[in-house]
Amino acid sequence: MAVIRRCLGCQSTDSVENLLRCVALTHQVVVDEKVKLPGRGAYVHHNQECLTLSLQRKAWGRALKMGPTLDCNVLENLSRSTDLAKTRLNG
Ligand SMILES: [Zn+2]
Repeated sequence: MAVIRRCLGCQSTDSVENLLRCVALTHQVVVDEKVKLPGRGAYVHHNQECLTLSLQRKAWGRALKMGPTLDCNVLENLSRSTDLAKTRLNG
């Protein structure tokens, strides 16, 4: 039975297996890679587009109930990571 969550980037729903779980720790977003951190989680597709979109929409502060001061550096770095470029079609 797949657990379905909504991506903060593209707003589509997907199985959590395809999504990256993130939680807020002391006003900072951290990636919950092992899916074991407590607290409110929010989800985003692990690709550049969805990460960038979610940041542009300032979706994290709202989703994690932390407000606009939430530090999203981790996600900004991830969204710039070249590792994620493979999910995009160039050209
Ligand atoms: Zn997405």
